[in-house]
Amino acid sequence: MSTILQQQLITEWGLFTNLEAARREAARCLQCNDAPCQQKCPVGIPVPSVHRAILSGNLRHAAELVRTANPMAHTCGACCPQESLCQSVCVRTTIDHPLDIRGLHRFATDWEWENEPRHPRLPKTKKRRVAIIGSGPAGIGCAIGLGRKAISSDIYEREPEAGGIPAWAIPGDRLPTDIPRRDVLVLNEYPVEIQTRQEIRALQELRKRYDAVFVSVGALEEAEVEITGQDGPGVFGGLEFLRQAKLYPDKMVVRGPVRIIGGGNVAVDCALVASSLGANRISIIYRRSRAELPAWNREVDNAFRKGVDFLFQLQPLAIDREGDLIYRLICRRTTLGLPGEDGRREPIQLPSETISLEAGMVIIAAGQYPQSFEDDMLERDERGNIVVDESCRTRLAKTYAGGDVAARGSTVVEAARSGLIAAHSIAKDIRR
Ligand code: SF4
Repeated sequence: MSTILQQQLITEWGLFTNLEAARREAARCLQCNDAPCQQKCPVGIPVPSVHRAILSGNLRHAAELVRTANPMAHTCGACCPQESLCQSVCVRTTIDHPLDIRGLHRFATDWEWENEPRHPRLPKTKKRRVAIIGSGPAGIGCAIGLGRKAISSDIYEREPEAGGIPAWAIPGDRLPTDIPRRDVLVLNEYPVEIQTRQEIRALQELRKRYDAVFVSVGALEEAEVEITGQDGPGVFGGLEFLRQAKLYPDKMVVRGPVRIIGGGNVAVDCALVASSLGANRISIIYRRSRAELPAWNREVDNAFRKGVDFLFQLQPLAIDREGDLIYRLICRRTTLGLPGEDGRREPIQLPSETISLEAGMVIIAAGQYPQSFEDDMLERDERGNIVVDESCRTRLAKTYAGGDVAARGSTVVEAARSGLIAAHSIAKDIRR
């Protein structure tokens, strides 16, 4: 097998099966003084040191370096988009090909998980308590950051299981369910109480009861689109489809052709999941062109490889059904006008060009936005994100926000970083 092909396989699966293979990969690290990979990692994992530790066979130390920097070490080891982060600046690329940095991290943390359960030495907790709303990467990052500063926290999670999007929406072939569970289980070693099935609708009460409140509820509300006939069986929201497919795969019935509306990563994930559930005619319908498609290229290429069709410049208008069964999606062709406020060219419908597509199931993944609270006095931007400063403080006293709800979490590692930053700010503020 060629080295490049081997590298592709390693990168795709991020798995080294034995220490010798991991050592060989770690030995390729050039140990750059300025370590651009470390600078590009949102949580600043000391990448060259991790590789040195693996090379010397000290996997415990390698794992410790990774998880000390990254509260979502296990999840990121499996699915961090290294191609656009640390690996994108790997100097080894100038010689042959970049290191599989994520794969090496995973090797170390997997080894530690299986061989040496860890017990962090934490300072004695003070009589301070913080409420964290949402148990995704930002919430976990904040709870761990606070625990290290001897501050206890209560996490409120509306789902039956903690972990946020990685636990219930990232497709199982990219992130098996037990991996994000590890990052949640690590919380047992910190002064953290998790309460699941607890939806928080108002903030004021929590602000009275706690020293601080950290909002990390993500952006889980599905954007609405104007399509007639969408109410009824056979039509799913993108996140709802991913959730059901991951948590209840045996109950999921996929009826083709599957038409997915949207152009982001959620739409592409839905296509990949539909494919893994056995659907064979899957298409993504996007109202702009390929140039404006917001999904990551890596995911789009993956979808192409799995036979997913992309139908560009189509605006869905109506779903036709007979009783409970969908049989057609009516769309109108678009042309692209001038760029809008976000810099993307605006689609304009061409009234004379109506297209009818056979459909058995429709998934609407046209975007997600954050929830608001009943007593929401938080400043929001035009997309509904909570406005925070660089320290994750909102304009309201004792209230902080991070992750997707504050536009600080386009990746798991970035969301986790915002949680750590918020923990730092909270600890500083409540000491005053
Ligand atoms: S967490 Fe992600 S960005 Fe950071 S070193 Fe690991 S793979 Fe790279």
